[in-house]
Amino acid sequence: MPEPSCDVVIVGGGGNGLLLACLLADRGLTVQVWERREAIADRPRAFGIHPAALEALDAVGVGDAVRAEALALTDGAFIGVDGRRAGVAFDTPAFAGPVVLGQDRVEYLLEQRLHALAPGALQRGVTVTAVTDEGNSVRVSARVGEGTRECSAAIAVLVDGTNGQLSEQIAGPAGRVGPKRWYAMAEADATSDDQAGSVALIASSHGVVESFPLPGDRRRWVAWRESGDPLDADSFRMLVHDRIGRSVGSIRGSVSVFAAQSRRRRRLVHGRVVIAGDAAMTVSPIGGQGLTIGWGAARTLADELAGANIHERVVLRHYPRAVSRMARRAQRRASFFMRLGDPTSRRDWLRRGAVLVLATRAMRRVVYRLVVVCRL
Ligand SMILES: Cc1cc2nc3c(=O)[nH]c(=O)nc-3n(C[C@H](O)[C@H](O)[C@H](O)COP(=O)(O)OP(=O)(O)OC[C@H]3O[C@@H](n4cnc5c(N)ncnc54)[C@H](O)[C@@H]3O)c2cc1C
Repeated sequence: MPEPSCDVVIVGGGGNGLLLACLLADRGLTVQVWERREAIADRPRAFGIHPAALEALDAVGVGDAVRAEALALTDGAFIGVDGRRAGVAFDTPAFAGPVVLGQDRVEYLLEQRLHALAPGALQRGVTVTAVTDEGNSVRVSARVGEGTRECSAAIAVLVDGTNGQLSEQIAGPAGRVGPKRWYAMAEADATSDDQAGSVALIASSHGVVESFPLPGDRRRWVAWRESGDPLDADSFRMLVHDRIGRSVGSIRGSVSVFAAQSRRRRRLVHGRVVIAGDAAMTVSPIGGQGLTIGWGAARTLADELAGANIHERVVLRHYPRAVSRMARRAQRRASFFMRLGDPTSRRDWLRRGAVLVLATRAMRRVVYRLVVVCRL
């Protein structure tokens, strides 16, 4: 049996793989991250960073760098079909606003940190083709350009994303949880009508429209869609205008249309192979907090791996339970929020009443949960 060449091989260097690698390196474990992409993905994904996510970033020494670049949110509002507003200001610890920074920037900062903690640990352009549990160690095989590469380790952690093929091969397909919906999303320049720092969730009889501030005087717009048909920039701007009467600024990049769906795997530990990140559980992007939860789970996993003799045997008691607990809660919220955004002309009167109630001061916590906890 060959000696393990490192303690842990992480397959996938996305947001979760990078943070886990930093945590493990910080605890003194030798780690390799094999990532098939040559560069960080720049398509828009996560952007809201909650206090719990900042704590995870602080744990690897990246929190301050993120705070320095991020935009602080000032307030949020749920706006009813008749234009009535139920709002909350993020000006007290009880209603603390998350900060906002694009996932690509956060991944860049994590990657720099990993270079400092474990130089050479991140290997890009390496596509893992097989992970084989050999009893006392795990063997990982990969394709690199025209060639191949192998290494062995005490443990392999698959952080290969929601559609990760290796996770599917080893753990089977992930179960779908809750409803599936289509959304169109675009990033645009802010206009004079947009208030910097304000989040707005706007109900309409034809489906919800959401508007979020981003650093650099831009906004992200998300709108419910009945199908996954592609949409160009002009059609997207028209859709938002027809639905809520608001103008979207010049759109940067293309409009993406995506299916939102939560998923969960029941078994996360398969001998010496552990499943983590979105591969373990995916929260629909319309429920937010996917990365916050992935990072919370990564902290539990890192503590458990660092505290055990992983070369002897792998017993993880806390990690699977932590993932299951956090995923259930977040996925319930995501399902509720996705149904709330459906077109509802038949129920408009109900919504009007709901916003009237939400607009009262006593309901600020509910509004806060809607616009922050459920959505970012
Ligand atoms: C539109 C959108 C908006 C979102 N908004 C939010 C939000 O506001 N807040 C939030 O917290 N979350 C949000 N999320 C979710 C968040 O983006 C995910 O939770 C996060 O990206 C998951 O990270 P990951 O590292 O688990 O997976 P990924 O980011 O998918 O990374 C997996 C990595 O594994 C690599 N890989 C796969 N297979 C192999 C292989 N065989 N060999 C080597 N490498 C491999 C891939 O190249 C990839 O880099 C959003 C997601 C989307 C799509």
